[in-house]
Amino acid sequence: ASMMESYIQSGKIASKIRDEASKMIKEGTLVIDLVEYVESEILKSGAEIAFPCNVSLNEVAAHYTSPAGDKTTIHAGDMVKLDLGAMVDGYIADTAITIIADGNIDENYTQDEINLHEEIVEASEAGLEAAIATARAGIEVSKIGEAVHEAISEYKLNPIFNLTGHSLEQNNLHAGISIPNYDNHDHYILEEGQAVAIEPFATNGEGIVNDAPGHYIFSYLKNRPFRMKSTQRVLKYIQNNHKFVPFSGRWITNEFGERKGSIALKQLSEAMAVYAYAPLREKQDCFVSQKEHTLIIEKEGCTVTTI
Ligand code: MN
Ligand code: MN
Repeated sequence: ASMMESYIQSGKIASKIRDEASKMIKEGTLVIDLVEYVESEILKSGAEIAFPCNVSLNEVAAHYTSPAGDKTTIHAGDMVKLDLGAMVDGYIADTAITIIADGNIDENYTQDEINLHEEIVEASEAGLEAAIATARAGIEVSKIGEAVHEAISEYKLNPIFNLTGHSLEQNNLHAGISIPNYDNHDHYILEEGQAVAIEPFATNGEGIVNDAPGHYIFSYLKNRPFRMKSTQRVLKYIQNNHKFVPFSGRWITNEFGERKGSIALKQLSEAMAVYAYAPLREKQDCFVSQKEHTLIIEKEGCTVTTI
């Protein structure tokens, strides 16, 4: 298959699973059931998992996935960001949606809060639409950021200024080019045939995210020597199975046991053999929405692979 065919194929798989999994987002669903459903469906489709399924709630913008045995439960009215990635022949589809969890919402939130939360979700959707309408070969990435910022500002809300979309390359989720969510004066010009993931985030807060406690998602960085045999084994396993795209701590503790897996991940991150991503939380603890699609840039516009 050609590169383009693989991008289209991974896009179809990711969007179908995103839409199916969205139906699970309601009161009482365990986050781990949602992420394991998504990950197993990606594998069943014959694609590979491009990164652990992220399910980030409320004021957490991104980079949460369940650890083994996670008891985190979705409550009615939670702002649930579902972010998933499928890979065909190394060509990645990265897509995210935000859903306000169904259930007895008015038991948890006032009508004013419910209205605000719906606007926050709409704003990131409008931001993504504006970005897609702007994306084409020859345009500066800061122009896309400007369009996103303008669309979100119409709701009197902020984008997350320190989160960006990114270019995609074969087996490479963050391939070096960033697509900002405001005009950051980055004059990089998009070219025909480039694949990019665009992901506006919206919030009623300041629009800055900071690291929150815990590490659930990791990426391989480089080989390092370790004295402890079990840490060497975990590193070998990561090199064999997760050398190119991010992996879940849960996959490691499921394979090596809770204790050995956790100790190894801690040692590997301290030695910078792996990078540990922190969950990202809005600075003022305000709710955050996200919407993301993967696009192929064309002369006169773009093809959205994850529609
Ligand atoms: Mn994503
Ligand atoms: Mn992305």
